[in-house]
Amino acid sequence: MFEWLKRHMDKITSPTLDWVQVEVTTSCNGSCIYCPRTLMSKRWANRHMPIELFDELAPFLRHTDLVYLQGWGEPLLQNDLFEMVRICKDRGKRVGFTTNGMLLTEDTIRTLVDLQLDIIGISLAGTTAKTHNRIRKGTDLNKIIAHLERLCEIKAEKKTEIPAVHLAYLMLKSNFHEIKEILPLGRRVGATEIIASNLALIVDPKLSPEAVFNDTVRMDYYRNTLDEIRHKATRENIVFDYHGPGLDDASLRCRENVHRACVINVEGEVVPCVLTNPVLPSYYIFKDQSLPVRAMSFGNIRNETLTQIWNKKEYSKFRDLFDPETARKPEQIRSDMPQCCVRCYKRFGA
Ligand code: SF4
Ligand code: SF4
Repeated sequence: MFEWLKRHMDKITSPTLDWVQVEVTTSCNGSCIYCPRTLMSKRWANRHMPIELFDELAPFLRHTDLVYLQGWGEPLLQNDLFEMVRICKDRGKRVGFTTNGMLLTEDTIRTLVDLQLDIIGISLAGTTAKTHNRIRKGTDLNKIIAHLERLCEIKAEKKTEIPAVHLAYLMLKSNFHEIKEILPLGRRVGATEIIASNLALIVDPKLSPEAVFNDTVRMDYYRNTLDEIRHKATRENIVFDYHGPGLDDASLRCRENVHRACVINVEGEVVPCVLTNPVLPSYYIFKDQSLPVRAMSFGNIRNETLTQIWNKKEYSKFRDLFDPETARKPEQIRSDMPQCCVRCYKRFGA
């Protein structure tokens, strides 16, 4: 009786989320020069989320329409990835993940198309192999393009539009000029959406000058280039969006959708964003200062349901800080904001 009541309460108090992001693995076959996995490889723990834990989460997926199987790692290294996709699809969810694109073999592509995966995101850091491969070490742009062209052919053969291809371009000072070629590349691989993002988590101080937002002298050039690409993309029916490119020092808003989405890490911890994930190493660089990473978990799905965790007072108070409709005054938001958010580039619009 008590169990029934608990389940019933869980159902009627369950929130509606835009998406739930699940970190299915922290392993990776790449070694991108900016990634905390690469820069702190000695301290990094490679783990896979056990399918049993994913199964425990499954009943609570009713909270959301979209499940994104992504964290700090390469999802295609998770042996149970296809089963995880199937579990979500059986529950009527849209499913996606972002990959470095190297493991998209013929069999994998066919399986993902047959599973009716909805979104496949591809991470890029250049539109030439020379630049991309230098930054995203261990990956090869020419192979990635060949895999995506095969994906287009298989989708055409099976008469399906999904998975939709989304490109995620990491803007750095040294690769920014190549973003001008992102639309032709997007067209070639059948992309429907392109997002250009900033280096929001800096672990090595030597990379600070690579962050576009630190190059304030050329900010007009960055902004004009991105706006121009956006106009062209609209004409071609491709969604193009970008973060930043500069920082807004007065901003109290987080770029992440933390008030309507959450991340469940590889251990089952429910965290507001990937930057507060306890799997991250111990420090990061913010405005030339080395600061400790402050992990933030509101509970673990091994012990409580997602509804119970989401409805906790402290989580609700945290989300209210970033809710565009909050009744709080800016001074209140500023004083109640946790230190990890006070000193986070995403809070400044990066
Ligand atoms: S592919 Fe992703 S997880 Fe792997 S090293 Fe590159 S940025 Fe990190
Ligand atoms: S401000 Fe940064 S640390 Fe805080 S929730 Fe947003 S992304 Fe996460």
